[in-house]
Amino acid sequence: MIRDEIIMLCTADLAGQIRGKGFPSSDLEARLKKGIGWTPTNSMITAHGPIAPSPWGPYGDTVLMPDPATEIRVDFGPETAACHFMMSDIMNLDGTPWSVCPRSFLKRMLAELEERHGLKLKAAFEHEFILEGIEERPNSSYALDAFRRQGRYAETYLGALKAAGLSIDTFMPEYGPRQYEVTVGPAEGVSAADEAVAVREIARAVAHNCGTRASFTPIMRPDTVGNGVHVHFCLLDAKSGTPVNYDAAAKNNVSDKAAQFLAGILRLMPALTAVTAASTISYLRLTPDRWSAAYNNLGERDREAGLRICPVFPGTGSDISRQFHFEFRAADAAASPYLLLGAIVAAGLHGLDEKLDRPKVCPSPPQHLSEMEREALGIVRLPQSLEEALDLFENEAALRPLFGEELSGAYLAHKRFEAQLMQELSPEAQCEKYGLAY
Ligand code: GLU
Ligand code: MG
Repeated sequence: MIRDEIIMLCTADLAGQIRGKGFPSSDLEARLKKGIGWTPTNSMITAHGPIAPSPWGPYGDTVLMPDPATEIRVDFGPETAACHFMMSDIMNLDGTPWSVCPRSFLKRMLAELEERHGLKLKAAFEHEFILEGIEERPNSSYALDAFRRQGRYAETYLGALKAAGLSIDTFMPEYGPRQYEVTVGPAEGVSAADEAVAVREIARAVAHNCGTRASFTPIMRPDTVGNGVHVHFCLLDAKSGTPVNYDAAAKNNVSDKAAQFLAGILRLMPALTAVTAASTISYLRLTPDRWSAAYNNLGERDREAGLRICPVFPGTGSDISRQFHFEFRAADAAASPYLLLGAIVAAGLHGLDEKLDRPKVCPSPPQHLSEMEREALGIVRLPQSLEEALDLFENEAALRPLFGEELSGAYLAHKRFEAQLMQELSPEAQCEKYGLAY
């Protein structure tokens, strides 16, 4: 049989879905220059299929312009299509970025961080997911037996990531039934989000080739733990590339600059969840005692904090200021990695622009503090539904100008329609829908 390879140009859209168009690989050179046509209303296709009311209807044209640095190619042998794609920016026909493009939004936030504050961001995404088709046995959290039962999946996955120029930092069986976790090393700026897309898509491609499915759904069932996406990040001096997060003399060792950045994230976290925890079932996960994040609290080595100061390992002898970093935990894979990282940078920018006060570390789980104690620390419960989060996002004056009216308007319309679609369904039925969509 004669075969020729197809390359897909993709976007991680408002629903965090990877969609795009393909062309013969022999046309690559031309396509790198001219891209491929794309439709504005595609941004309103929800994760469940129906299209949210679109401001563009059937009108308008945009272009997917590929970034060749994001090329992923994994050859799965003669029996199946290669996994060959490139991430793209959605551009207007005149070559300017389209205001609703998630990747262009992240680039814009990173540029503002550099222009106004001389800073760059380095980040690594930690992903949890469910591997279907694996026998569920009691008491297999973190178990060697649970690792064994995923068969050849993990090793094929590592091989595929390596073929794509990535590598695994860690892979492990997680706490939940059939739940696994994968982390890759950190990358600078937009590449961190590009890599998050690759990690998810290669996980899905390998599962498909192993005759099973990997799902990054925020939570598999209302009674289980969730699948978090934890974003580890640190700030770098844009000129020298030196990390600027650590200060041995400062409270909790957090430098003044980093403290302002964190303060912005904490202040805006309730509104940000509309973007970072972007499904209706995300709010089943963001509940206390689930080791996710239920409050906008800063924690030190606390795995229930919305934002965590991560541990350093002085015993390893490596430079502590290079290890010292933070972790945003109120996120999941229903969020486009570009919107998620862009939202974190937007909130950090707000903290830097406003020179917000240094946040205090929460001394114990927020649910064990009195209302007054929480208030004194500026801690509030995160929204408990997508609708509540969207209302907060809509009314947050600090975020709207950073996101821009067109992106926020399209996002709100998309997500409000998605929430309506889910309204009549039980939490279990919603979990089932999202399980299939992600
Ligand atoms: N599964 C937890 C979550 O939903 C995270 C557990 C952990 O890795 O700390 O975020
Ligand atoms: Mg984990």
